Amino acid sequence: MARPLRADIDLDALRHNYRLARELAPHSQAVAVLKADAYGHGLIACARALEGLAPAFAVACIEEAEALREGGITAPVVLLEGIFEASELERVEALGLWVAVHSDWQLDALLARRPARPTPVWLKVDSGMHRLGFPPERAEAAWRRLSEAPECVTDLHLMSHFATADAVDSAYFHRQSALLAELAERLGAPTCLANSPATLARAEAHGAWNRPGVMLYGSDPLEAANAASRRLRQVMTLHSEIIAVRDLEAGEPVGYGGRWTAPRPSRVGVVACGYGDGYDRHAVDGTPVLVDGRRAAIAGKVSMDMLIVDLTELPEADIGSEVVLWGRASNGEVLSVDEVARHCDTISYTLLTGVLPRVPRRYHGG
Ligand SMILES: *Cc1c(COP(=O)(O)O)cnc(C)c1O
Repeated sequence: MARPLRADIDLDALRHNYRLARELAPHSQAVAVLKADAYGHGLIACARALEGLAPAFAVACIEEAEALREGGITAPVVLLEGIFEASELERVEALGLWVAVHSDWQLDALLARRPARPTPVWLKVDSGMHRLGFPPERAEAAWRRLSEAPECVTDLHLMSHFATADAVDSAYFHRQSALLAELAERLGAPTCLANSPATLARAEAHGAWNRPGVMLYGSDPLEAANAASRRLRQVMTLHSEIIAVRDLEAGEPVGYGGRWTAPRPSRVGVVACGYGDGYDRHAVDGTPVLVDGRRAAIAGKVSMDMLIVDLTELPEADIGSEVVLWGRASNGEVLSVDEVARHCDTISYTLLTGVLPRVPRRYHGG
């Protein structure tokens, strides 16, 4: 029998989550963000599942856009960071891509060409994230240059990114949002502002387009869940099995460095999944897993190909028992990737994008 570890991808859940993003923002279109191999879920399979539902897709770079075209995806694709060098513009045009423009050099390169057809452009303004984009006081001049070049530029939108849309404390979000509302009004600009948390919880940021990413995969990015985020369905189930069990006496250590020692006579199980598969080595003792759909806890350091769980409270568990590292167990019980991430001092994004190619993906539904 093959190693039991696999990532089951529920494409019906992906479509459900996309529909939820649309339902929450009925006056917006939603570009489905598929960067980083669709957050680890598989670029082409996810794009195909959303084709016909999502009018456009977003990726981080032209290589990802080319992979979509090679996979037969014909819908518009937005480059969220635009081009990285001017020579990409020829391929942008050939592939029919849309680009973000966040810097003077990108703007100059775009306007220096005599293209066969104009490129749809999202002008990125830095409204407070302080990562990419034109400072607000220079946005109007950039907007004017782009809008006065209809042979090079079409479908101009104002784009920005929120630093704190997920936070309970909304003061900084409101500063960014107010600045953008004023700017969009002054320019008469259609906007593209909302990421997943803003799509879920900040209706005032919904624009002509929204950019939901992680919510499509069923992770709740909000610091405090709301009624909308509770409707998300997790797309990936990271599934494995117990491959060995052993009984320990109180005081016996487990795994590298003996980080966990049995506090009482204990029974532990070895799971085929480790950091060599992308499971986070920062997982602390007590990080939850589901064994036959019931909660159990990691005991000891995660190793490359295996991790160990305490089965003392689950006497029926044995070799071959189903283990869900995150996602949905056979009995319907769900362990959210967000909860696992909290035990690893990280966020769902790194766990999902971190599942390595060694883990086979299996697609269902769609
Ligand atoms: C990744 C990304 C998104 C999606 O963010 P989520 O938090 O995953 O929804 C939106 N906009 C930009 C510019 C991004 O880079």
